[in-house]
Amino acid sequence: MNYDFKYDAISLTRDQSLSHPVSICLVLGYRCDLNCPYCLNPDVELKDFSHIDTSLLNLLSKWAPIRIVLTGGEPTLYPELLSQIGSTLKKMGHFIIVSTHGLHYERLLRMDWVDRVIVSLPGLSPKTYQLMHGINGFNTAVKGIRSMVNAGKKVTINFIVSSYNISEVPHFLKSRTNLR
Ligand code: SF4
Repeated sequence: MNYDFKYDAISLTRDQSLSHPVSICLVLGYRCDLNCPYCLNPDVELKDFSHIDTSLLNLLSKWAPIRIVLTGGEPTLYPELLSQIGSTLKKMGHFIIVSTHGLHYERLLRMDWVDRVIVSLPGLSPKTYQLMHGINGFNTAVKGIRSMVNAGKKVTINFIVSSYNISEVPHFLKSRTNLR
């Protein structure tokens, strides 16, 4: 598994004057099918974006290449919008990352424009996963990570630490090799 955080496709130091950002997040919407106790989205007005603004696209085309994280909510709940925006930004030359819970990994496997997938896996057991994400999804998430790695996708695991899972932190680096 590749844990290189240098994002080899681009040189983030190309423009030292920082006349534009080197990394941005685009929120596709706030819907999510998990129920994390720490989620901030319940306080956010639910809003689905049907398209990306043309003026923003024009601006992003001038900034290429930068690192763009497509996120939510859960971005894979908007597969058409995600594909439309992701492939457009990829054609501009950006480095595209999708931040996801990974449970709909089949959708991501079909998206060949994705440079890296960040998967939230805040537990090393079904019990801890359920405490952190509010649903029984551990086995599917692990299966998704394995499937994406085996398909040649670059995957980063996001392990959010809390009182529920802090005892698992020492085991995390060791356990990641079992996710291949
Ligand atoms: S995965 Fe993110 S958006 Fe979904 S419930 Fe958890 S914190 Fe909220």
